[in-house]
Amino acid sequence: MSEHKPRSADVEVAEAYDGAGTTFDFYAQVFGRQSIDNRGMRIDSTVHYGSRFDNALWNGREIVYGDGDGRIFLRFTGSVDVIGHELTHGVTQYTAALGYSGQNGALNEHISDAFARWSSSGSLATPRGRRTGSSARSCSAPL
Ligand SMILES: [Zn+2]
Repeated sequence: MSEHKPRSADVEVAEAYDGAGTTFDFYAQVFGRQSIDNRGMRIDSTVHYGSRFDNALWNGREIVYGDGDGRIFLRFTGSVDVIGHELTHGVTQYTAALGYSGQNGALNEHISDAFARWSSSGSLATPRGRRTGSSARSCSAPL
């Protein structure tokens, strides 16, 4: 799915597209930033990654979304907070170039969490996931 083309019937494709657009607009309006790299970079996403993959990630070029296992997590495209978090990893890559381990990793995760706060979340965990306190955030093993 891309600009000026018909909308996808695939829910995850449409959500990833809309969430990336929301995040793109946020960075443009609040910081005057032109996409992730501030040079108008196209934002790509891969959805339906793996089988029941319980995470989303920024791989240095795009966001990759799992569908969740349906037991603990629902699809990751369903949370604009997750999308903002992952795209902020991209912004961090092109600005501070923080790594993903130790104090650099902790700062990297915190920056992504903080910048994703502007949007609401809460739709990611299933009722069972909320009861068991499952979280997409692991401070001991940040992604
Ligand atoms: Zn992260």
